[in-house]
Amino acid sequence: MAATVTVEAEALRRAVRHIVLAGGSNAREAALVAENLVLANLSGHDSHGVGMLPQYILAVVEKRLRINAAPSVIADHGAILNLDGNMGYGQVIGHDAMELGIRRTRETGVCIVSLRNSHHIGRIGHWGEQCAAAGFVSTHYVNVVGRPPLVAPHGGADARFATNPYCCAIPATAPGGEPVVLDMATSKIAMGKVRVAMNKGEQVAPDTLINSNGAPTTEPRTMFEPPTGAILAFGGHKGYGLAVIAELLAGAMTGGVTMHDGSWAKNTITNNMFSVIVDPAKLGGADSWRREVAAFVDFVKASPPSPQNGAPGSDGVLVAGEPERQTRKARLAAGIPVDATTWGEIVAAGERVGIAAAETLAAAGVH
Ligand code: NAD
Repeated sequence: MAATVTVEAEALRRAVRHIVLAGGSNAREAALVAENLVLANLSGHDSHGVGMLPQYILAVVEKRLRINAAPSVIADHGAILNLDGNMGYGQVIGHDAMELGIRRTRETGVCIVSLRNSHHIGRIGHWGEQCAAAGFVSTHYVNVVGRPPLVAPHGGADARFATNPYCCAIPATAPGGEPVVLDMATSKIAMGKVRVAMNKGEQVAPDTLINSNGAPTTEPRTMFEPPTGAILAFGGHKGYGLAVIAELLAGAMTGGVTMHDGSWAKNTITNNMFSVIVDPAKLGGADSWRREVAAFVDFVKASPPSPQNGAPGSDGVLVAGEPERQTRKARLAAGIPVDATTWGEIVAAGERVGIAAAETLAAAGVH
């Protein structure tokens, strides 16, 4: 097999659905997992795409991930919903939690959705986009427990929390328009991207990782081979501060857990998420909201391109969410590249639940 396979999006969804179904999930669950993971790949976030499937299937087999679970409503205070994810597939739990929050926001204009105890909910932008598609603004703070810490506090030499993502999505303000979706890990790099770099045999950027002695390194293996190092927070003390806030809102305020001794002993990716969903028309008024969002985005994007300010080779100013949409367009046309290590792990995950390698290859149209 070539070093990297290129798979058409629908074929990749088919292969993922096939494996998730074989793990005992119902058709809806398999479809939601496949849709979510493949959209992450289409968006350029391979770290949160189909490469996660082997870990999910292992967790299903070891009964750390509960198949066909739904979120339970622990408390319903009207504009505040307190949910438990029951360690179900995060792709289902996140979807259903946002649907409950969106429905409530239609009635009340705002809903706080407190979600604890879900298996990995993947790319948080997926949930921001779901709210934006309903016409609502949303913010999401997430913490990650169930596995050892990954990120060092500013000024610290070892890891004390995870890559705690933050997302805020602003819906499109005109028909056919696009949302603004800021969706980011509070670490300099997402852990999945360290895994992708290691699988590809690449180094990560300088000033991203420290080794177990607290010294800078570009070697991704430092995160996988003991004694392990740590990822740095983005933006020094500021990103570190945001990571702590995400930990406290998502971990403590939802009734979940924060990262501390013993909380990660199960070796399972558990996410807690604190979300606020708002109908913007209920605040300053729909017309001024639409006008101001559009005017500001246009104004920002009209800044003249500067190759010294931003990624080399960039085309000038983008707003958050645009890079993902650009990659979606390109990958829908050309297919999704999956590196050989990741592809081998996916095939092995299929075998773990009784799907022969040839069957997975056929489902994905890979020869
Ligand atoms: P990233 O650095 O690739 O992008 C962060 C944000 O910056 C995005 O909103 C993107 O649209 C925007 N952006 C990128 N380039 C830009 C440019 N040139 N101009 C303007 N905006 C630009 O993302 P990341 O921090 O590597 O996070 C990757 C994914 O990992 C996210 O989807 C995040 O939700 C996910 N994640 C999930 C978990 C979890 O436990 N579930 C943990 C950590 C991260």
